[in-house]
Amino acid sequence: MRGSVAAMIGSVPSPPAAPPVHPLAPPRALYLHVPFCPQVCPYCDFHKMRRAQGLVAAYVARIADEAAATAARWPGPLDTVYLGGGTPSHLTDAELDAVLGAIARGWGGLGAVETTLEADPLTFDRARAERWRAQGITRLSIGVQSTQDDVLRFLGRSHRGGDGLQAIADARAAGLEVSADVITAVPGQDAERDLRAVAASGSAGGAGGANHVSVYTLTIEPHTPFARRGVAVDDDRAADDYDLAEAVLAEHGFERYEVSNHARPGHRSRHNPVYWRGEACLALGPGAAGLLPPGPSDPVGTVAARTMNPPIKAWLRGDPPERTPLTGREFALEKLMTGLRTVEGVDLHELRSSTGVEVAAAFPEALATALRHGLLEREGPRLRATRAGVRVLNGVLRGFFGEGG
Ligand code: SF4
Repeated sequence: MRGSVAAMIGSVPSPPAAPPVHPLAPPRALYLHVPFCPQVCPYCDFHKMRRAQGLVAAYVARIADEAAATAARWPGPLDTVYLGGGTPSHLTDAELDAVLGAIARGWGGLGAVETTLEADPLTFDRARAERWRAQGITRLSIGVQSTQDDVLRFLGRSHRGGDGLQAIADARAAGLEVSADVITAVPGQDAERDLRAVAASGSAGGAGGANHVSVYTLTIEPHTPFARRGVAVDDDRAADDYDLAEAVLAEHGFERYEVSNHARPGHRSRHNPVYWRGEACLALGPGAAGLLPPGPSDPVGTVAARTMNPPIKAWLRGDPPERTPLTGREFALEKLMTGLRTVEGVDLHELRSSTGVEVAAAFPEALATALRHGLLEREGPRLRATRAGVRVLNGVLRGFFGEGG
């Protein structure tokens, strides 16, 4: 079987019998989770909550302690910082100043390459965006979701159709990069109208529109209000909207560079590829997930460790993150899972050097099947999903997990 796989994927230089594993480089990326939201949307399964008396103050104080302790262990410097949630822009100016100040004290500044803040359209105007720009934020990820009032109401959002587009205009006028989130396959939605409105944002002049759009299919997560109400997403409609998004955005100069992400040239996210390439990332805040190099207490054979901060109550108490050591094989599966979502795919030489795993030898059946069916393709050291493969990527990955889990 290995012979036939090698024949299908072309000439791959033979690896040494036991390839040395190069340890994960120390983190230069930071994710910080802000769990507070102005509303609780019925489709959301993130770690989030409404503000409560004293809770935000306790959160801000704990973030300062956690940042100081983390920076003492992992001093950076930081290339990228991502403040996600929740709704980070729901913090007041004073609270956000304190959070940004904690990062700056720990690492000597924010991200040298990119610092992104997730923002709800109703939480800022141009003046506030200018304040953020002056503080070192470089990019907003704005939760536009839809430009249609009835769709936004259905999604439980507080803003209305024009608010998202106004938010994009305000952010661009303040000199910030903008990524807009859009949700598709919502019952009753005219997805094309939403996609065209966001893609064309800024075309009427002014400082320009969103140069990055993240398009997510509505998914009904278990235990959410939508799941309890029996809301259903039509699979055919979801597939049609996925193709529609790529076509509409391409018309406006965007390229899909990851399953859900589209950017104009020069405007790709700099932080998210850290996850897709399996690079180390620090995590602050309740429920935040990170990836670190192996430590002295990890079992022999660990090549990286996932960390997951506890939910807010335990996190405020100072409980440590849950740490999951990854073997080379487990880390290789993670890298395939995230890397195959990108147009660049996975560099198999890099994967071998960071995990010790030779994909053709470790997953011969899954690889051969996906190549034979035209779902994956090989070019030089890169393995990537074809157009057909992107549409059934979860099934392709199940094959690898079935063989390697
Ligand atoms: S604003 Fe975002 S994080 Fe908050 S509840 Fe809605 S979807 Fe979830």
